[in-house]
Amino acid sequence: MQKVIVIGAGLAGSEAAYQLAKRGVPVQLWEMKTRRKQPAHTTDGFAELVCSNSLRSDRVQNAVGLLKEEMRRMDSLILQAADATRVPAGGALAVDRELFSQYVTRALRALALVDIVQDERTDIPPDAPCIVSSGPLTDGALAEAIAGISQAFRLHFHDAVAPIIEADSIDKDKAFFFSRYDRGSDYINCPMTQEEYDAFYDALLTARLADLHEFDKDVNIFEGCMPVEAMAARGRMTLAFGPMKPVGITDPRTGRQPYAVVQLRREDAAGTLYNMVGFQTRLAWPEQKRVFSMIPGLEKARFIRYGVMHRNTYLDAPGFLSDDFSLRERPLTYFAGQITGVEGYVESAASGLVAGISLARKLFGRPPVRFGADTALGALGNYVSQGMGNDFVPMHANFGIMEPIQGKVRGKKNRQEAYARRALARIDEIAQGLKGEAIDEV
Ligand SMILES: Cc1cc2nc3c(=O)[nH]c(=O)nc-3n(C[C@H](O)[C@H](O)[C@H](O)COP(=O)(O)OP(=O)(O)OC[C@H]3O[C@@H](n4cnc5c(N)ncnc54)[C@H](O)[C@@H]3O)c2cc1C
Repeated sequence: MQKVIVIGAGLAGSEAAYQLAKRGVPVQLWEMKTRRKQPAHTTDGFAELVCSNSLRSDRVQNAVGLLKEEMRRMDSLILQAADATRVPAGGALAVDRELFSQYVTRALRALALVDIVQDERTDIPPDAPCIVSSGPLTDGALAEAIAGISQAFRLHFHDAVAPIIEADSIDKDKAFFFSRYDRGSDYINCPMTQEEYDAFYDALLTARLADLHEFDKDVNIFEGCMPVEAMAARGRMTLAFGPMKPVGITDPRTGRQPYAVVQLRREDAAGTLYNMVGFQTRLAWPEQKRVFSMIPGLEKARFIRYGVMHRNTYLDAPGFLSDDFSLRERPLTYFAGQITGVEGYVESAASGLVAGISLARKLFGRPPVRFGADTALGALGNYVSQGMGNDFVPMHANFGIMEPIQGKVRGKKNRQEAYARRALARIDEIAQGLKGEAIDEV
């Protein structure tokens, strides 16, 4: 059988390569990091998490939690890796990013059917099966090759990354361990009084921003990953009701809820690194040091990585991609990951899973799997193939893009549970139907 060319071993490409190989399809997986890295990447490993180490909620009553459970039941490599390398994070699934990437890299290297090419792929073969999963920072010759297929490639928006701090540089006489609503002690909390909040807010609003590259000047910020200073510019209380909200947090020293709080989430299994939750930023680095050191407990914080901002490019996919992520005009060419207009680590991997399974079935002449919008997996494919309204913007997993529950179900919690029950029943049916496809020896 002809090898499938997978371009990029990020979250989507790694998942797609695994799904293909486990069905007996040989894969040539191209990853260029050892030769050239995109601006957000710092390691040579596969499936690198470029910003937060959280894969978000792990509850099936939440749409991204449901998506993860669906992926687990479909034997996702990314979920295997996440479950094996998780770090405590309350109700979220957060991972040790180094161990996570090592797990995925090792798993793919161990597959005889996956041939890894450590180089930059510059073209998309017109006739050979291919999955383009080169990520939101796709550039250079490959970007031109994609643009050669369609004008749809031209859209972009901006994403920002939050800083990471060494745990032992956080002053525990001021900061304290606690998870919101008393659900454990996984987060470090830096409490603020109103005076401290006001002073911090004023400094944040007047701090200097980092310069942008020429091609990044047309800034178009994505709501879901808005820099903290841009959010602050919306009003004095926006942060206090957003990433700095104190609800459900009690300061053990005062026994009271603070006026505002900065939360830090554990980065690594050893608990030596913490990231600032919701503090993605485009401030100049010396300004990050100056302004974030005003946060009680972070006066002497050592930053091992400052926040940065990057362009994030995606296809104007509706009308152009099918719901299995293949090109309508070229059925052997697939796209997967953030570049398709899904948004987030888990969603990127999910599109790789659907693309990998779908392409494998196509190559064996089997009928397509229809996940359908009553599953979170299927709803993402539906969204990129059809969009919603006029503007196509990248989309997280959410119940709003899924098929509504029929009949009356009272209460939000009951409705969320109904979505989850229906989706998982459908996924179990699909997984059962695909059981015979996997081969023992890959
Ligand atoms: C700055 C930034 C911060 C983000 N933060 C978050 C976050 O905190 N949480 C979240 O859920 N999502 C976040 N995202 C969004 C998204 O989830 C991630 O970008 C995710 O990594 C996308 O997965 P992917 O597989 O599509 O691409 P990637 O994970 O970026 O993988 C693409 C891979 O392709 C390789 N590649 C690219 N071009 C070529 C080529 N020509 N030849 C060979 N290899 C190539 C790259 O080296 C890379 O390894 C962020 C995105 C950006 C840009």
